[in-house]
Amino acid sequence: MRPARALIDLSALRHNYRLAKRLSGCRALAVVKANAYGHGALECAAALADEADGFAVSAIEEALELREAGHRQPIVLLEGWFEASELGLICRHDLWPVIHHHGQLQDLEQADIARPLHVWLKLDSGMHRTGFSPAEYPHIWRQLQASAKVAELTSITHFSRADEPETGRTEQQLDVFRQATSGLQGNTSLCNSAGVLAWPQAHGNWVRPGIMLYGATPFAFAQPQAADLRPVMQLDSRVIAVHQIGPGEPVGYGSRFTTRRASRLGLVAMGYADGYPRHAVDGTPVLVDGQRTALVGRVSMDMLTVDLTDLPASGLGSHVRLWGTGLDAGEVASHAGTISYQLFCNLNRVPRHYQE
Ligand SMILES: *Cc1c(COP(=O)(O)O)cnc(C)c1O
Repeated sequence: MRPARALIDLSALRHNYRLAKRLSGCRALAVVKANAYGHGALECAAALADEADGFAVSAIEEALELREAGHRQPIVLLEGWFEASELGLICRHDLWPVIHHHGQLQDLEQADIARPLHVWLKLDSGMHRTGFSPAEYPHIWRQLQASAKVAELTSITHFSRADEPETGRTEQQLDVFRQATSGLQGNTSLCNSAGVLAWPQAHGNWVRPGIMLYGATPFAFAQPQAADLRPVMQLDSRVIAVHQIGPGEPVGYGSRFTTRRASRLGLVAMGYADGYPRHAVDGTPVLVDGQRTALVGRVSMDMLTVDLTDLPASGLGSHVRLWGTGLDAGEVASHAGTISYQLFCNLNRVPRHYQE
């Protein structure tokens, strides 16, 4: 069998969830959207079933899968509904929609629903992606509070630069949030993973950790709280062939890499069809038998090549780790012009194996 696989450590997932709880001291929605960032939403939700205060997903399709699997916790729909026709199911399954634009307010006004909803009302505190402006927010909040269709209201906002504490942007957004919600009752939710880890003053009543659950840091620098995260995914494979070539020889498609010395190259069963980034540059770190070496040449669909010249003990059958313990996915991502989130979400053909 082809040796490429993603090993998912569910005890690491629980460890990371507990870290989010411990740091925030409040309720935490486990964000399992996009198939739990490629880790398998149903498996991850099952692993957290006894302790998660709730889940967050991006759409009703994802929420219904969790309900069908028997999860009874609150489930927040981070973008609410996309079509008014979803409101019946949202109501029936007691899903908690975010309302973030005027079209949704109209939908709610016109909807005929069986019981009032728990609504998360989104404030645009400065990211300018979703949410109502600070000027209109208190007014809309009071309208909804008075509506017979709303049972409970939670104020939610989202930070654009919580992973860059030096920019001052999060303090500004926090100020905007505090002003726009001052005097409004109800719970608050502001923090993604970077907020949980680095912004204790913003924790509010509900936090929304995503990437940290999967053990990857949202920061591009060594952040002390993030040091306690444990990677959930090990993306592993093996060396399936070895060959020796001379100096000055090109390697792979487009001859992107040329050897500078006589080289021993290892062929690895992992490619962009598995989700490994095709844009990874020469020199992208890879672990072979636990030792760091480098990707050389372009990543192919099913294979990639690593330099084994300085690892004489490694060869055919050697263990290869593309990311996981010992090699943070974020570091690999930075060599491919992206972030760990996208690497995880792009996982494709590679089979996932679970470990309790
Ligand atoms: C995806 C998402 C999160 C989780 O973000 P991470 O950076 O992965 O922790 C939190 N809140 C909202 C609104 C999101 O869309």
